[in-house]
Amino acid sequence: MNSPYFTGFRHGLKPDTRMTVSEWADEHRILPMKSAKEAGRWRTTRTPYLKAIMDCLSPTSPVERVVFMKGAQVGGTECGNNWLGYVIHHTPGPMMYVLPTLDMAKRTSKQRIAPMIEEMPILKERVKDSRSRDSGNTQLVKEFPNGVLIIAGANSATGLRSMPARFLFLDEVDAYDDDVDGEGSPINLAIKRTATFSRNRKILMVSTPNIAGSSKIETAYEQSNQQQYQVPCTQCGHFQSIEWNQIKFEDNDPQTASFECVACQHQMREHDKPRLLEGGKWVALNEEADGKTAGFHLSSLYSPNGWYSWADAVTDFLAAKGDPVLLKDWTNTVLGQTWQEQGETVDHELLYQRREHYQAEVPWPVEVLTCGVDVQDDRIEFEVVGWGAGEESWSIDYYRLYGDLSRPEIWKVIAEKLRQAYKRQDGVMMNIAQVCMDSGGHFTDEVYAFSRKMGID
Ligand SMILES: [Zn+2]
Repeated sequence: MNSPYFTGFRHGLKPDTRMTVSEWADEHRILPMKSAKEAGRWRTTRTPYLKAIMDCLSPTSPVERVVFMKGAQVGGTECGNNWLGYVIHHTPGPMMYVLPTLDMAKRTSKQRIAPMIEEMPILKERVKDSRSRDSGNTQLVKEFPNGVLIIAGANSATGLRSMPARFLFLDEVDAYDDDVDGEGSPINLAIKRTATFSRNRKILMVSTPNIAGSSKIETAYEQSNQQQYQVPCTQCGHFQSIEWNQIKFEDNDPQTASFECVACQHQMREHDKPRLLEGGKWVALNEEADGKTAGFHLSSLYSPNGWYSWADAVTDFLAAKGDPVLLKDWTNTVLGQTWQEQGETVDHELLYQRREHYQAEVPWPVEVLTCGVDVQDDRIEFEVVGWGAGEESWSIDYYRLYGDLSRPEIWKVIAEKLRQAYKRQDGVMMNIAQVCMDSGGHFTDEVYAFSRKMGID
């Protein structure tokens, strides 16, 4: 039974599914000259955080749905491309790759998928050249033995309905329309195509997030086990996420950018990054998830050396900070976080929901929270400040609320806002201990009435 012929025959029929996507990528993947940042052999060690994400897509993993909410320049796209090559070569089956529009689908096929197949002999021998006459292949349909890859646009229901899919790759989902051809959410439409494979399907959802409250990737991430990549301090070993709060710089000079440990204040520099990434681990913040959905959040602050540095992040921040449009873009693409719209009018419902979404993180040395409230003619501004030992302070939350301050509705919203609890890094929920309210001559009666009600002196 173990003759070489028989073994080879069996392997031909049933590939070794124990090989994971990252192992496959390290063994086979070649990054094409034309499209990749670094051409040549793929090395998972360059972006170690991608290993766990890719390996959820291997058949040995029980995970069914992988959600990757990310900043730019972390290798998210190549992660999906590795999976695509793995499916064609290793676990063939029907696969659908969805991009926001049909035009983007065509462009991706031409600029990314075609060069990848062209430069990898193991893929090239399986996918027939679309230029040969009877190949059955076009720009949007790639057939291979025991499988097919359909590349579709989320703006066309026809493409999304075309076939059942065992593997579904939904790329840049926050750029999808809410409704496609009157048939509802393109995401739901595509996921419906996987129903026949409900026991062995895999769904990968990747995106840079957009607006808070309507972001599709953030909604999916919130329903997942919410993993964050924590790295060990090179000095004290304390594991922590690389947070923007901890990126320090002096005199508006990006070259001074460093990452400060929350525990020992040691300042780590760019050259420490490979060690940080290599020693890192994914930590789930939501243990109550269903076990089938793995969510990963990663900002561009994790981007490996040579791609996007902390100095780049500071440079872009300094250029964007005065302009809400640029700052939104920076928040989305660098921090990989949704953007909170500043309302022009008071919409009680909306603000109430926003209270749920806005979860500013409080650094752990903070012991007390105070809030300064500034009352203006047409608006009210809050700043929540965290205080630690030696009167060191952090700005925790800043909030501007426009509206008619002579109406009681807005004061209800303000009261809610002041009662909001903030989560410290160690999980402790903190309330605002002291409020200082300055009427500045505006709406003095309302301010006094409100202060009496809230028990503020
Ligand atoms: Zn440390």
